[in-house]
Amino acid sequence: MKNTNFLTKQYLHNKKFNISHNYLSNQFSDYKKIFKKIEKLIKFNDYTLGFEVEKFEKKFAKLINAKHCIGVGSGTDAIYLALKALGLKNNDEVITTPYTFYATINAIVQADCRPNFVDSGKDFNINPDLIEKSITKKTKAILVVHWSGRICDMKKINQIAKKYKLFVIEDACHAALAFKKNKYAGNFGDIGCFSLHPLKNLNVWGDGGMIITNDTKINKKLKLIRNHGLINRNNIEVFGVNSRLDTLQAIVANHLLPKLKNITMARIKNANYLDNNLKYINQIYIPEREKNSREVFHLYCVQAKKRDKLVRFLMSKGIDAKKHYPIPMHLQKPSKQMFGYKKGDFPMAEKLSDETLSLPVHEFITKKQLDFVIDQINFFYSKKINS
Ligand SMILES: *Cc1c(COP(=O)(O)O)cnc(C)c1O
Repeated sequence: MKNTNFLTKQYLHNKKFNISHNYLSNQFSDYKKIFKKIEKLIKFNDYTLGFEVEKFEKKFAKLINAKHCIGVGSGTDAIYLALKALGLKNNDEVITTPYTFYATINAIVQADCRPNFVDSGKDFNINPDLIEKSITKKTKAILVVHWSGRICDMKKINQIAKKYKLFVIEDACHAALAFKKNKYAGNFGDIGCFSLHPLKNLNVWGDGGMIITNDTKINKKLKLIRNHGLINRNNIEVFGVNSRLDTLQAIVANHLLPKLKNITMARIKNANYLDNNLKYINQIYIPEREKNSREVFHLYCVQAKKRDKLVRFLMSKGIDAKKHYPIPMHLQKPSKQMFGYKKGDFPMAEKLSDETLSLPVHEFITKKQLDFVIDQINFFYSKKINS
């Protein structure tokens, strides 16, 4: 079997780009302040679910106007635990999008459930008009993904959920601080799931995640099952798992949390700048931006003609253009094997996978760098190199 830890190589490869998706050395240039806080923790020995985790949970909940926040081991675990807390099991179906990161689907399968894919819309999110006809007797929940930090059509989705008595879970791993009509991502359904992975907008030094809910019962259940089901040292109330937000990571998260607003606004500013300059290029399709909402641009995604060639060209210019993601979830090997999905099942998701290009948009990109990116894209389409 091949070495499956390809990440070391990937990190080295990414470092070669001048304009990169990776900005973590910059973001944590004040790491010594975090070290000081870790020193305190070492004296206090508060390594699991201690003060720092509670502090983070309170602050994050407050920041996005949620009643409860539960720190867990990762964004994937957040989704898995959400499904478990809602009682899903035994091949229950979860309606979701094929255009997402692997973790959404892995969590569904891990929870002993089955993904029931519904095609995407042009805005990268699940197409709400196709949901109703996909509901079956086994359907128990709709798991939406706010792709790249753009909130799904929650009004329609919640109406359908209500009509068919389905749970709504939000994979908000891209969407910290995104909102629509004054409601923050994560608050639209029964449970919202977030990731603190190093490449997310709010990030830590490894894995971490959190769940939010406004339902006190669900909160109680999640707090139990993330920690073995323990109610005290000697008793478990239910069977649980070990998926706590690591206390060391909570320190990092607490350090970064006050900066999240600025991080977010910088991404939005960069994305607007790209929008305003790329919109003149006929070969680029930018999804229409919505009023009354805040899109937080975990990724800056557009659809581009001759996408593969353009990506190669930009990379040769030191720009870390990426395909997020070239293969939709229903065409991944285990989806085809286990669930019988095939090419052609979800034409829009497949088109998005063929045409989507993402550009670095994080807070450390300079205007000069953005101008360079824009110039290179213009150059690519204006010259014969692409014909
Ligand atoms: C990152 C991500 C996850 C999973 O988060 P991890 O913390 O890496 O487990 C889930 N869904 C989406 C859409 C993501 O981008």
